[in-house]
Amino acid sequence: MATAAEIEAPAGSLDSFRAEARDWLAANFPPSLANQAMTLSSLEAPGDASADEAAWTKAMGDKGWGVPTWPAQYGGGGLSRTQTRVLQEEMQKIGAWNPIGGMGVMMFGPTLLEYGTEAQKHEHIPNIAKGLVRWCQGYSEPGAGSDLASLQMAAEDKGDHYLVNGQKTWTSGGQWADKCFALVRTDRTKKHEGISFLLIDMDAPGVEVKPIRMISGASPFCETFFTNVKVPKENLVGVEGQGWTIGKRLLQHERSSLSGGGGSAGRMMAGKTVSALARDYRGTDDQGRIADADLRMRIVRHEMDSRAFMLTLRRAALESKSNQGPSAASSIMKNVGARVTQDRAELGIEIMGMNGLGWEGEGFTEDETAQTRTWLWGKAVSIYGGSSEIQNNVIAKQILGMLDHQ
Ligand SMILES: Cc1cc2nc3c(=O)[nH]c(=O)nc-3n(C[C@H](O)[C@H](O)[C@H](O)COP(=O)(O)OP(=O)(O)OC[C@H]3O[C@@H](n4cnc5c(N)ncnc54)[C@H](O)[C@@H]3O)c2cc1C
Repeated sequence: MATAAEIEAPAGSLDSFRAEARDWLAANFPPSLANQAMTLSSLEAPGDASADEAAWTKAMGDKGWGVPTWPAQYGGGGLSRTQTRVLQEEMQKIGAWNPIGGMGVMMFGPTLLEYGTEAQKHEHIPNIAKGLVRWCQGYSEPGAGSDLASLQMAAEDKGDHYLVNGQKTWTSGGQWADKCFALVRTDRTKKHEGISFLLIDMDAPGVEVKPIRMISGASPFCETFFTNVKVPKENLVGVEGQGWTIGKRLLQHERSSLSGGGGSAGRMMAGKTVSALARDYRGTDDQGRIADADLRMRIVRHEMDSRAFMLTLRRAALESKSNQGPSAASSIMKNVGARVTQDRAELGIEIMGMNGLGWEGEGFTEDETAQTRTWLWGKAVSIYGGSSEIQNNVIAKQILGMLDHQ
């Protein structure tokens, strides 16, 4: 049976959808918020939302348009991809932005839609669609990062519940999350087949989080400890021992959503493009071009890479008619996106010279010290969601069909 995302609306109905979207946005998007997207993601501390932000989040959540292609029966928008593009175009015109995000939207929701029971979907998907519940990811452990299947956190079968003991680490937003989707070990005699996918309440007795300070000075993630945490059996997603398959699927969703940061939408400090920043810091020649010819060429190359990447992402999304969701190709997108993001940050630091290396003090503006932190933060892009080397392994094995000689 065709899903909403597969059915493309005919041109006439698309016009009427455009009119509907425009009217709804005019009635619901507070103009005071134009072009001021909350940078609220699961990697950042939730701030206090203003009254307008709260109203906009509620309106989008109730309408389901924060997750436009998710099925309407679980609180999604039920829109086709073409309708979604029209909605995005209309939002862009007035500077409106999507206030519904985080790991629930990026990775857990799409995975639960595929593998969850009806009861699980009805319990969790509407709350994600409305932006009411924050999720965190309990995958990495001190001894299991790239080799994730070595994970040891145990969930022992106690009849009507699992008893969970162990530790996760690098849990982004763990200190602010309501719930955690975790990979746990339910069988020590098998490696991959001994892993299960479990949903854990972060306020359950026995869950403890300790924020970790990053090189950028922020503490967006935590060590998370689980001591005799009781988790109801109905919180198991899929079959016991099938967690590795579900967990890998979630990683594909994660990688495809993480790749978007490399596109031309990426801006430098104070919302400036790389070119604008270079004009400010390096000045222009008598023809109005960025003065340094070598730098100018590298900025052009970066802009071309960035735009080509953004267009490729968009084309890949449109060409994917089958609604099978992301594939191993998300590893390519993640790696290219990471490289473009890091190139941009490096260019920014080079353009700003000494001003791009400030940490604090009167010699630097607030925007400049923020840029230094953005540059340092960029180091994480090729690590989280699986490092670039691990993506290369996925590309070699699953796309190029190269044999694993280990
Ligand atoms: C900002 C940030 C947020 C994160 N958020 C989360 C989160 O919310 N939840 C979560 O569970 N995890 C999270 N992580 C953890 C992340 O997934 C891991 O850091 C990552 O998978 C790498 O694991 P590791 O740190 O243990 O490094 P290791 O696995 O120890 O790797 C060290 C180095 O060895 C290389 N390497 C390892 N194995 C191979 C191999 N087989 N072939 C080639 N090279 C290899 C790696 O590429 C890397 O360069 C986050 C990480 C960061 C930086």
